[in-house]
Amino acid sequence: MFEGSFSTNATTSIVPFSLLAPLCLGGEIKVNSHQKTENKLFTQLVSDAGSCKLCPAMCDRAAVFSALNGSLAARVMFIGEAPGRKGADRTHVPFSGDQSGKNFDRFIASIGLGREEIFITSAALCNPRTDSGANRKPAKSEVANCSQFLRRAIEIIDPRVVVTLGSVALEALKKIKWHELNLKEASGKVHDWDDRLLVPIYHPSPQVLASHRREAAQLQDYQIVAQAIEQHRSSIALSRHPCDKAVPRVGGLPSIGTA
Ligand code: SF4
Repeated sequence: MFEGSFSTNATTSIVPFSLLAPLCLGGEIKVNSHQKTENKLFTQLVSDAGSCKLCPAMCDRAAVFSALNGSLAARVMFIGEAPGRKGADRTHVPFSGDQSGKNFDRFIASIGLGREEIFITSAALCNPRTDSGANRKPAKSEVANCSQFLRRAIEIIDPRVVVTLGSVALEALKKIKWHELNLKEASGKVHDWDDRLLVPIYHPSPQVLASHRREAAQLQDYQIVAQAIEQHRSSIALSRHPCDKAVPRVGGLPSIGTA
């Protein structure tokens, strides 16, 4: 974690690290030492994930983990199951290029959340396939192997709100910090986890929409995500840095990407 404080060059005010956006000092965007450290750690993480061959069944797959996964300043992290064959494994952008991605975009748009405000990763960073080439769920051992990358991503980005998409992602968090939650009972509620707000919801795949959690229920779940974001915003409202302005948007939530 990078909780702490420092004094800016321009003023003598002390600003909590966790509240800092790219600093605007006298109209300039400046990169502070915290951001440099964050960038360095992220670059190393991308490199380590990119060269990982831990899972025997995924030696010829590439991890979907790069700057395309989202903003390091994001305060909301979504965690999916694994890249899909026709989606992220092909586009290198989580939840894009397939129907799950279209559904996901529709759901976050329903609460006024933009991709530039979030970071998306998954329990397994490589695309698991059956012998015939179809998508499959990552094995428990594969999720365990990949938990080191999930742990490091959470530490670097330090999201205030974590949203798990499906049971595999919720289970994966147990490797980072134990919890007793299961998707059926915990979905659509805000929980405390690892000093963050955790909202377990269902996966946006067409199969889940057709059989487990239909459109209306999923849209309702995203309203709970919005509530968690608002809860986080309320908790920092009194200590916000003057440069870190929320920009209200018509029909949606205030911008929370750098809150
Ligand atoms: S799924 Fe994760 S642990 Fe397994 S090979 Fe890919 S990057 Fe490595």
